[in-house]
Amino acid sequence: MKRTVAASWLLSGAGRAATANQAIAIGDGRIENVTAGEGKGSLVMPALGNAHDHARIARLSQVGSYDVPLEAWLPYLTLLPTVDPYLSSAVSFARSARGGVGAVMAHYTRVQGLTDFPTEARAVAKAARDVGIRMALAVHCRDLNPLVYDPHEKLLAELSPAACECVTRRFLRKPVPAAEQVAMVEAVARDIEGGGVTVQYGPAGVQWCTDEMLRLIGKASAASNRRVHMHLLETKYQRNWADRTFPQGIVRYLDDIGLLNERVSFAHCIYLRPDEMDLIAERGATIVVNTSSNFIVSSGLAPLGEFIKHGCRVAMGLDGLAMDEDEDALREMRLAYNVHKASGFDIRVSQADLMRFATTNGRFAVTGMKDEVLAPGAPADLLTLDWEALSAELIEPNVPPFDLVLAKGVKQHVVDLIVAGRDVVRSGKVVGVDLPALETELLAVLRAKYPTTADVRAAMPELKSALRKHYTGPLYCA
Ligand SMILES: [Zn+2]
Repeated sequence: MKRTVAASWLLSGAGRAATANQAIAIGDGRIENVTAGEGKGSLVMPALGNAHDHARIARLSQVGSYDVPLEAWLPYLTLLPTVDPYLSSAVSFARSARGGVGAVMAHYTRVQGLTDFPTEARAVAKAARDVGIRMALAVHCRDLNPLVYDPHEKLLAELSPAACECVTRRFLRKPVPAAEQVAMVEAVARDIEGGGVTVQYGPAGVQWCTDEMLRLIGKASAASNRRVHMHLLETKYQRNWADRTFPQGIVRYLDDIGLLNERVSFAHCIYLRPDEMDLIAERGATIVVNTSSNFIVSSGLAPLGEFIKHGCRVAMGLDGLAMDEDEDALREMRLAYNVHKASGFDIRVSQADLMRFATTNGRFAVTGMKDEVLAPGAPADLLTLDWEALSAELIEPNVPPFDLVLAKGVKQHVVDLIVAGRDVVRSGKVVGVDLPALETELLAVLRAKYPTTADVRAAMPELKSALRKHYTGPLYCA
């Protein structure tokens, strides 16, 4: 289908000056040409990328898990009842789209489990196609350390019999053998890839996977060229564990087993050391920074400026934990910029860095596409913002348009989101699914089924304090 998008201002990509009154011709999902045209009150920029997310179904405050550090927060996710995976994924992807995101990494750490996994994966893929965003399903692989990063027998002994029974039943199931988990990824990929959907290996993180599993994934990824997405060094406790476990260094270890290359993206990396940044930069892996999430679950602050200084490719992630629990990727972009941009006159993250970080580098992590600019031949992934609203209060007429987006752009300014030439959001509404109706349905299901997790709710205070004791105890004091 051929069409033309009008731009009062076009921000075509990193390091490019804004151009006024442009017409962007689109055909077959790509940009055909960009010529002088008429404005029609819109600012057009590349669609935003969300390179780390989990297709999560609820916000923290909905289940009382706001203000809990990561290691204690993860078990709280079990409070959420299982729901239909199409419903949960469609809500998550549609919210992402409404927030300006055209490409999302669904690191699928929460399997609903109402059916076998291939059936569930098909439902997730259908949700992404119905919404119309590009989606990578990073299939969760995990077979180690189900409760803490260490043996959990001592922690279990701290719990009352009732809490211990619940925790054992809910968290300590025998994992599926590594080879089976890894083989499943290729099978799912053969089944669901296409139409904007791709599949990646999604090992949970080094502390959650056996050496056997990680090596299998390194090998399989090299053989198939399939991309890999995983958590890395999100908290100081993970750093502590990694240093105890890998005397050669955790990043060296990943390099040794084939998991440090251009196909790989790492979420968080808050506790990386400078030499590890150098190695990541050299190998061309991507670091995904999740500023809001890191604040909310008290993990720390990723040194985004340092990553860039060391030459690392960096991308933005929302991790299902946007600052205002609203999946607003424009606000996330502003937060990341304001937190990291400069110290006085020393610029650490330039606007060009930031543009790449928030848009095309995320799409690269999700899809492997390398285009950085809205130019002929590039994928037609465009975000249109309401320029009239953004500029309504201007006094000086020549304020750079990207300054305005960074200063005040929020999802309420999103007019249209076009992905591969197709309307995903039109006039502020998600086109492919009825988001408000799905949200109402999801909330009703979650409330109705909430009693099914009453056992976890009862055990949680004890588990939380045992986890606190574990991570503030002798193992982690050194
Ligand atoms: Zn995450």
